[in-house]
Amino acid sequence: MATSAPDLQGALERLSAEFTSSHPRSFAHHTAALARFPNAVTHDSRYTVPFNLSIDHAQGAYKWDVDGQRYIDFVTGHGSLILGHGHPAIVEAVTTQAARGTHVGGNHELELAWADAVCRIVPGAEMVRFTSSGTEAVMMAIRMARGFTGRTRVVQFAGHFHGWSDIAFGAAGSAGIPTSLRDIATVIQPQADAIEAELAKDDVAALIVETSHPSFFTQDDPAAFLQHLRDTTQQHGALLIVDEVVSGFRWAPGGAQEKYGVHGDLTTLAKILAGGLPGGAVTGRADVISMVSFDAAARGDRPKIGHPGTYNGNPLSAAAGSSCLDIVADPAVQRRADASAAALRAGMNAALRDANVPGCVYGDSSMFRITLGGSDLPPATDLRGPIAGLSIERETLVGPLGQALNVAMMQNGVALFGSRGIMSIAHEDADVQYTVQAFSNSLQAIGLA
Ligand code: PLP
Repeated sequence: MATSAPDLQGALERLSAEFTSSHPRSFAHHTAALARFPNAVTHDSRYTVPFNLSIDHAQGAYKWDVDGQRYIDFVTGHGSLILGHGHPAIVEAVTTQAARGTHVGGNHELELAWADAVCRIVPGAEMVRFTSSGTEAVMMAIRMARGFTGRTRVVQFAGHFHGWSDIAFGAAGSAGIPTSLRDIATVIQPQADAIEAELAKDDVAALIVETSHPSFFTQDDPAAFLQHLRDTTQQHGALLIVDEVVSGFRWAPGGAQEKYGVHGDLTTLAKILAGGLPGGAVTGRADVISMVSFDAAARGDRPKIGHPGTYNGNPLSAAAGSSCLDIVADPAVQRRADASAAALRAGMNAALRDANVPGCVYGDSSMFRITLGGSDLPPATDLRGPIAGLSIERETLVGPLGQALNVAMMQNGVALFGSRGIMSIAHEDADVQYTVQAFSNSLQAIGLA
């Protein structure tokens, strides 16, 4: 550890100046894009200080910016690319289908193959409704649950992310979302007494859980936690929506529900589902998915819920998605990505320890999260949750420390996703070693080591 407190703002300014001069074309792109996009970005999490890279192309575990520099990519299409960039099977499927029709305005065989794969792989998947994104899948699952139960209220856990719809994002307190929505979307802590108290009101349509949120996987016994959600919702007539937009096809072929041996009524999917193209789905119980049916008997004579959507089940996403699911159905895929992430988490913790920098790198499956601060060094091993003294809320995402770390990592050829990273089967041992070295260099560049 540096003997005196590092000047983080000074480090950020110095690193930003170096970054700007070594990335002239990205800077020119950023400057031009400022006139078209607020902050020159098209997604909140792409906002980066001093500016984000302009990416020219990507392949395997890497992407290259317009200045010709290569990065090990840990954004991996926001977690959609477990096979890495440009996997040949996906490229072939998409290019073949592009020539045959990008929107056929009717049923097509690929959407059925895609849904068949979902039902083969995902526990409890009996029927499927495709959407264009994970946000839409969550919106649709909530609507289905309301239509099915005749109840309105939804319960979610503090900090769990379910996309940017008003109903799912209201808890994050964004301007532009009526606070009155909080009457029908209740946020609670993921603790047994809070869960039981809320569901005992017997007016909850659905409880939704994000199985990729650290508050879920850092539970002592995530399987018992999920089982508790299963039992309590069932007891009180509410549906359990398991949001596997991230964990689906990543925690195991059948996601967290396969890993923990418990399944909900509905599952929301996106990202890997569509092989890196836009797409989402709700799957689960046939009687609940059938709430969109035109057949009153299939709906148990409940009123139909509406669900249009121009790009639902579109042929390009279906082509990419069904090819991708054929590959990720083999658990060797998840084992390989998990092993790389475990080696990286252990290597980065060893780097923190060697440099005497308090903090840790932790995570489940093929993901990692960097948390710096506190007063303790991590063990030089893999960690599922943060060490004592740090919390899952304390991420190195914002402020000069996180910004300086990000810039330093980019200068060292590594593209993080904020303070996180998501891995693929394209990441090799050499990429893990390279990243650990880049992390050590970055700690020094910031003045922490
Ligand atoms: N649910 C979870 C757990 C997510 O992580 C995300 C996005 O990252 C979503 C839902 C929303 O998915 P999309 O970005 O495809 O709308």
